[in-house]
Amino acid sequence: MASVTLNGITKRYGDEIAVDDMNLEINDGEFVTFVGPSGCGKSTTMQTIAGLTIPTEGSVEIGGRDVTNLPPKDRGISMVFQNIALFPHMDVYDNISFGLRLRKYDQEEVDRRVEEAADVVQLGGMMDRMPEEMSGGQRQRVAIARAIVREPEVFLMDEPLANLDAELKVHMRTQLQRLHRKLDTTIIYVTHDQAQAMTMSDRIAVIDSGELQQVDPPLKCYNEPDNLFVAGFIGSPAMNFIEGQVTTDGFESRYTDLSFDPDIQGVDVGQDVTVGVRPENIHLAAERDKAEEPTRPLEAIVDVIEPMGDKVFAYLLSDESVEASAEGRGEGQLLINLPPDTTIQEGDDVEIVLDRTNVHLFDTASGDAIRHELA
Ligand code: ADP
Repeated sequence: MASVTLNGITKRYGDEIAVDDMNLEINDGEFVTFVGPSGCGKSTTMQTIAGLTIPTEGSVEIGGRDVTNLPPKDRGISMVFQNIALFPHMDVYDNISFGLRLRKYDQEEVDRRVEEAADVVQLGGMMDRMPEEMSGGQRQRVAIARAIVREPEVFLMDEPLANLDAELKVHMRTQLQRLHRKLDTTIIYVTHDQAQAMTMSDRIAVIDSGELQQVDPPLKCYNEPDNLFVAGFIGSPAMNFIEGQVTTDGFESRYTDLSFDPDIQGVDVGQDVTVGVRPENIHLAAERDKAEEPTRPLEAIVDVIEPMGDKVFAYLLSDESVEASAEGRGEGQLLINLPPDTTIQEGDDVEIVLDRTNVHLFDTASGDAIRHELA
């Protein structure tokens, strides 16, 4: 295993900046996930680590060694991609061992490594199977085993689960965590799926428009997002946002007032701010004891109810004048979590409270987080 360091990596394609001055230190044995929307520069960053792309500026170190201009094969890395390219005419054993045989490892060594790798991904007993006789998940495990046998210092995985169905994705998530525990290898993982990033990683690196937004453990990104982008991207369903201004008494928007002391909160009267609150941090006023520090009640109308089994999502409108937007998250709209046995129905008038210990305040102009509670 080895550390990976990105020193001011920039990658330009003509006028377009795919990766913008990225600085990142990934520790020995760490599982770090690059996450962000499509086109944000995740794969390009990964390719500079893999050696498939030479950065326009900056350098890459693996295990303290500058590898910026080395070919992929000399970097001590193994890669697994979204498109599983197994040799269709070879059985599992031959697929996994192909690279080792190409490098003329002796037969005993090849057998040992293949057996160990197959064991890690639980493919023992399937060595004679042909790819066409396997499920998508099994084929992906063959691809991972093929990467493992090279005993890399760093694993690079670019959307390896993207082509699997939802159930298999969840199953493979656990498999990959076990794999990391067993191999104790540095893993760098790319996905646009914040759920995969949250569940598997030691740290996630959230990227937008080629720039690193936050690099922190998953729960830190969830509970203390550095800016509006991270707050909106991490967590599903997403955080509610309310845009407004700071007043002498706190916050005012078209539909919502919240009281706080601007001085303690670190904001100026008149400043444009955005309040962020996750669905699970809003409660019915009747159940306000669920909030550690409830705000005073706000009125709302229940627009749509979505029973999920373990909870109920309720889409609320601040009053009759709000035009519900298609995604249910426009101005004057809030999504909240209710307990599964709630008797609330569409059309009901309700009163809600926000939990002040989990209300985030952002500067609207810069998007930067100011505080993660209302003092
Ligand atoms: P992601 O992996 O986050 O979806 P990419 O790293 O693939 O994003 O792409 C980042 C940006 O760089 C995109 O705008 C993409 O169009 C551009 N880009 C990527 N590769 C190339 C290339 N070979 N030539 C030109 N533009 C590219």
